Amino acid sequence: MLRCRHVIRKIQVPLLRAHSTGSNPPGGNEQNDQHPLRRTFRLLGNDMRKIKEFFVPKEDKYENESKTQSIATNNKFKFGGDKGSIEEFPTHCDVLIIGGGGIGSSIAYWLKQKARNGLNVVVVEKDIKHEKSATRVSINGLSHHFSLPETIQMSLFGADFLREAPENFGTNIPIKYVPYGQLVLASEEDAEMMKQTSHLQNELGARNELLTVDRLASRFPWLNTKGIALGCIGQEREGWFDPWALLANYKRAAHGYGAHFVHGEAIDFEFENQGDIIVTGAERSGYQSLDKVIIQQPGGAQRSIKFALCVIAAGVNSKAVARLAHIGHGEGVLHLPLPIEARKRYMYKINTQDQNIPGMAMPMVVDSTTGTYIRRLGLGGDYVCGHNAFPDEEVSGDNLDVSTSYFNEKMRPMLADRIPAFATADLVSCMAGLYDYNVYDDNGILGPHPYYHNLYIASGFSGQGIQQTPALGRAISELIMDGQFRTLDLSRLGFDRLIVDKPMYEFNALN
Ligand SMILES: Cc1cc2nc3c(=O)[nH]c(=O)nc-3n(C[C@H](O)[C@H](O)[C@H](O)COP(=O)(O)OP(=O)(O)OC[C@H]3O[C@@H](n4cnc5c(N)ncnc54)[C@H](O)[C@@H]3O)c2cc1C
Repeated sequence: MLRCRHVIRKIQVPLLRAHSTGSNPPGGNEQNDQHPLRRTFRLLGNDMRKIKEFFVPKEDKYENESKTQSIATNNKFKFGGDKGSIEEFPTHCDVLIIGGGGIGSSIAYWLKQKARNGLNVVVVEKDIKHEKSATRVSINGLSHHFSLPETIQMSLFGADFLREAPENFGTNIPIKYVPYGQLVLASEEDAEMMKQTSHLQNELGARNELLTVDRLASRFPWLNTKGIALGCIGQEREGWFDPWALLANYKRAAHGYGAHFVHGEAIDFEFENQGDIIVTGAERSGYQSLDKVIIQQPGGAQRSIKFALCVIAAGVNSKAVARLAHIGHGEGVLHLPLPIEARKRYMYKINTQDQNIPGMAMPMVVDSTTGTYIRRLGLGGDYVCGHNAFPDEEVSGDNLDVSTSYFNEKMRPMLADRIPAFATADLVSCMAGLYDYNVYDDNGILGPHPYYHNLYIASGFSGQGIQQTPALGRAISELIMDGQFRTLDLSRLGFDRLIVDKPMYEFNALN
């Protein structure tokens, strides 16, 4: 269908314009101006511009690079490519990404960086301020202390990618990557697992060191080692960075390559009968692929975008978006929901001027005996901390209310127990964020949906997703453009594991 996209576009342009001038929200911009003469001149002007663009090749700053980078060895889809103006509301695209947080924007960046004008990519984001997006509130940690090869490798790639951010993005938005080791503390019960995972991490290219209790005590005199049997500290490719700046870089670079960012909420899908495709588990009436997404724009107007492929990267809303595609309330494979739920987490900024505070050399400390984590924030005695286990917490997708009593009554005692200098720390500020938590096996879901031939999912990465956005975006771009994983084989993270009931537990996940 989209093979003829440019032809369709040419035929439809006058119709679409007539439609768009009527349905745009009132806002006083040029498109809403209904004065008959100005409207006629505007339409004529647009047509002249289109005719000019058609005959006169546009100057393209990426032109030379795009000539050397051809797209799509994947025969599964016929892509139309990107020939539209960035300012127009896109009615058609090759790849539509729902959710423009860290993961969705990274996917757009990778797709456009590789395919350039060979692929028309649209990102739909309902909240351009990202007030509730996990990407905005992350504690910014980058670590390789994981137990699965996939998770370790994704984070290592994240570190390499961030280190070369200026070259990768070609933008001047500083990522503020601070390379610092992460110190993980394990109880007697978890010490053996720590040894094994440290071995695996080093085999895969990380560099970290196991520390006995004596060595912990002499190296970190501010640390109380009670209840600790072993520590592990990263020596490179760890640290923290600014996820907001990373998001801005993804968006700016993707936009520079021609990705379209649309402000609106994906509220429904339209389907297309595809009798030529036979799918196990499809209803007897035949297989229907996803065809269009309905977008509700901020003013209330609804528009649709037709796509060849769709990616759900909607964070905690991914389950609800998947449900619009009947995932979780259909027959056969569609019976299985996308098992992603919101889990609320608090983060606290504290300050202490105590004499025994951990100084400049303090690594980010993850105390797995209690689930608390803390790191330095600048040089003035500020620290940011959080806690990973909230079993009693009432969770609601939209509620970002913060509890200060949780800090004073629960977290402060745990922190002070481990690092006594924090016993009298002042609570400076606090905020809440929502993990997109996979209730099936606590791990992310990445890859094609087993029922729809044109739907991919990238969601459920809980408390470790932002550092993995470089690898996740690259992985989805490989699936779309090459039909397979090229760099890291992440196939074990696919939705299929739910069908065959093969959980992929990440023992060191930040949940
Ligand atoms: C408190 C906290 C601390 C964290 N700390 C770390 C850390 O130290 N290190 C780390 O690596 N990770 C951390 N994370 C995890 C990381 O922030 C997330 O894994 C990552 O940001 C997820 O990115 P995302 O794009 O999937 O989700 P989001 O950033 O939530 O983006 C999803 C986007 O989809 C949009 N959307 C949803 N539904 C629709 C719709 N229907 N139509 C259009 N748009 C829609 C939303 O508005 C949102 O912007 C932390 C998370 C939290 C909450």
